[in-house]
Amino acid sequence: MPADPVTDNYCRPVSGALYSRVQPTPVADPKLLALSNDVAERVGLNTRTCDQTQLASVFSGNELLPGMDPHATVYGGHQFGHWAGQLGDGRAINLGDVLGADDIAWTLQLKGAGATPYSRQADGRAVLRSSVREFLCSEAMHHLGVPTTRALSLVLTGDTVVRDMFYDGNPRAEPGAVVCRASPSFIRFGHFELPAARGDVALLENLLDFVITTDRPDLHGRLSSGDATDRRSACLDWFAGVCDSTQFMVLQWMRVGFVHGVMNTDNMSVLGLTIDYGPYGWIDDYNPDWTPNTTDSEQRRYRFGQQAAVARWNLFQLANALYPVIQDAEALQSILNSLPGKYEVARRKMQASKLGLPDEALGDPAFTELLDDLEHLLVCQPIDMTIFYRCLIDFACEHDAPAANERSQASLSDAIAPALYPVEASDPDGIAVANRSIFKQWGRSYRQFLQRYPLNAMTRRKNMSAVNPAFVLRNYLVQQAIDTLEQGDSTEFETLFRLIQQPYECLAEPDRRFATRRPAWASNRAGCSMLSCSS
Ligand code: AMP
Ligand code: MG
Repeated sequence: MPADPVTDNYCRPVSGALYSRVQPTPVADPKLLALSNDVAERVGLNTRTCDQTQLASVFSGNELLPGMDPHATVYGGHQFGHWAGQLGDGRAINLGDVLGADDIAWTLQLKGAGATPYSRQADGRAVLRSSVREFLCSEAMHHLGVPTTRALSLVLTGDTVVRDMFYDGNPRAEPGAVVCRASPSFIRFGHFELPAARGDVALLENLLDFVITTDRPDLHGRLSSGDATDRRSACLDWFAGVCDSTQFMVLQWMRVGFVHGVMNTDNMSVLGLTIDYGPYGWIDDYNPDWTPNTTDSEQRRYRFGQQAAVARWNLFQLANALYPVIQDAEALQSILNSLPGKYEVARRKMQASKLGLPDEALGDPAFTELLDDLEHLLVCQPIDMTIFYRCLIDFACEHDAPAANERSQASLSDAIAPALYPVEASDPDGIAVANRSIFKQWGRSYRQFLQRYPLNAMTRRKNMSAVNPAFVLRNYLVQQAIDTLEQGDSTEFETLFRLIQQPYECLAEPDRRFATRRPAWASNRAGCSMLSCSS
């Protein structure tokens, strides 16, 4: 792809190019805080023979290795529904690609390694708290089976960075850090939107060719056959693939209770990977209207329950950007029109799997009602989403047999009691008086489904345990790890780093406390339930 001919590092509009060469700005005293061995292996690093000091030096941007060609890319984007013009890698610097052990070319990217031509008014740096959040969450998502960019390393820079966390006139100096991210590609929807907005069809076409060539070898034949119809169909297939992988990603977010928080089109990967961990959050008490992002608290555009619709809005922007090259509005529209239906089919299947029901149950006339009633139950009073589904495993496995009918009538509330947040006017078991019948009825319907679609209890348990995590990276847990890490104690951070690597395992002592409800003190605290874009 064409490079910006200017190599001086100052902020400017860049057109006719995809990237600018830029050197990372050295940091004072880099210290390696964490390294993901799994990512290291994939990118071909042998962590046993690597020198820790050199790792810190390379992955903070202080030292370049032979072959590295640092550069920042230029993209635009729709932010909170509005076209924002040129954005670009303001604090991300690609070091280059390495061919990994699995034959995948991984791009290594430093986040927080200093200003680039796209830094606008900002400093190109990142604070420790947001870097810890990005490092842990990327790896947590990977182990949960959610498509994501990865995190190789977390390095403390030894410099401080000044941030006004809630934009309220209270700036403070915070420790700075650099995360090295790894992904087969960091290309975003916004990379296409910018040349499209500028009417640079040549660059747009070049970029589309480049992306299909690198990401979709299966489409090479048609792309380069020389026939215009073949070419167009390859481009349309690529777009349809982006739609599918994006919808799949969002579905996985919904499965584990993840809220991205800033689904601007510049934060959407064309590979359907979760990218740019900012003010993200995890659902504790189930609430489709919840967003952790205080910057979005009025409009709640990026709230939990809205994510699939927003993804489609973003895909619509991508389709608009591609139109000058593909020039087939009808075909693009028809792909977009198919998305809600496809998503709904996948959502029902995902929900069935969370409930431990085999695919046959999807065709049951009562299945839609079972899901609707479940949604109603989950919002009728504060219920912890993760714990609820995990508790449902025991309930499901005990109530397979028809003989259990009588005993099971009342026991849904017993089974899910650990998931209930305290409410006023509740039964001793924690169910609000007004909600008693909702729980009873749903328990009965669910039990009928379990009996109608019987499965060996061991199989049911295994299936449900593989899609309902026991451990998610709750907001307050990361915040505690950050607080202690800032004071020099990495114990809590290391515990979380260990737990995210086995999220579906039952937690035994001394880790039991990580599988319990969010404590009351954390429900209204900065970093725990409220996060801003400041990072
Ligand atoms: P985000 O909301 O983090 O996805 O960032 C939106 C845009 O702001 C992107 O172009 C980022 O590169 C840029 N940006 C965010 N923080 C900084 C920073 N500290 N320095 C330079 N650019 C930044
Ligand atoms: Mg971003």
